[in-house]
Amino acid sequence: NDNALPGVPSDSGVKVVVRMRPLCLDKDEGDCIVHKTSSDSLSINDHSFTFDSVADTNATQALDIFELVGAPLVENCLAGFNSSVFAYGQTGSGKTYTMWGPANALSEDNLSNDQQGLAPRVFERLFTRIDEEQTNHSDKQLKYQCHCSFLEIYNEQITDLLDPNQRNLPIREDVKSGVYVENLTEEHVCTMKDVLWLLIKGLSNRRVGATSINSESSRSHTVFTCVVESCYKSTSDGISRFKTSNINLVDLAGSERQKLTGAAGDRLKEAGNINRSLSQLGNLINILAEVSQTGKQRHIPYRDSRLTFLLQESLGGNAKLAMVCAISPAQSCRSETFSTLRFAQRAK
Ligand code: ADP
Ligand code: MG
Repeated sequence: NDNALPGVPSDSGVKVVVRMRPLCLDKDEGDCIVHKTSSDSLSINDHSFTFDSVADTNATQALDIFELVGAPLVENCLAGFNSSVFAYGQTGSGKTYTMWGPANALSEDNLSNDQQGLAPRVFERLFTRIDEEQTNHSDKQLKYQCHCSFLEIYNEQITDLLDPNQRNLPIREDVKSGVYVENLTEEHVCTMKDVLWLLIKGLSNRRVGATSINSESSRSHTVFTCVVESCYKSTSDGISRFKTSNINLVDLAGSERQKLTGAAGDRLKEAGNINRSLSQLGNLINILAEVSQTGKQRHIPYRDSRLTFLLQESLGGNAKLAMVCAISPAQSCRSETFSTLRFAQRAK
């Protein structure tokens, strides 16, 4: 990423926050088996795990998720780094709640709702910071422009959530534009309300898959991207300098092992694709963590899935990544919780 500011150290480690949702009495079976033991560790059945941070049921959307993950994301983006947050975890663990918030917290007249998810808070902060930056350069030499897109990857096919008639869009790559999705709707945004409107519209177009196990499980990855461009015209030499960086907010498909039994035809193919794209993201994050720790060159397999191919410019190099790994504390979710915690551990 040649947008990175010179002198800013590259830190390509992934920030990992584990978030445990409350026990839900009408859905969960068994006692709570996960306990937070310090600000960054938890225990489950006598095993203990440490991450960058652990958010338990006392955690809030504002402090424990936004301040920890969202605010640094905005600053990283303004400093020129491509910056992404992924929500990972089994269906029902709280990914969507974390990323967008409960559906009723997204409406325009609900801006102060304390349940609001990461996305509306990130854009509220982004526009506040952009205003600040532009007034600090009161000679009006610094200008920002933002545009957003919203897509779903389902069964390795890309659908435009801002225009759901556009299905199976191809990913292209060229020297000038880098990696992009052909014909994807891009909306220019200037305010928080512009973004809220896109979020509400796009989320209502998401696909909901029905299976024998879960009637509403999310089997697709949802990716909201905002491209932030700035132009700074120097008063001394009159030269304009451009900088571009992306914010990606990614609500991943449920990480539960997709059961291949009982599935046939399209469902079987779909189950295989979901398992594969999540494990490929995991592999890729492992490799990136290893490269950043050892400095050794390794082949990075971006092309193995649509998700990693699409986000390759936001995954390697100077990109900033954070992962919120969502878990349920219930006994009945024990094995999926272990598997999420192992994934989270490997990302470090
Ligand atoms: P996922 O997207 O991982 O399938 P959801 O975000 O839809 O899971 O969460 C499942 C249910 O649990 C929803 O009803 C959601 O509102 C609730 N929930 C999730 N996390 C929390 C939390 N931290 N606090 C309160 N309720 C939560
Ligand atoms: Mg969800």
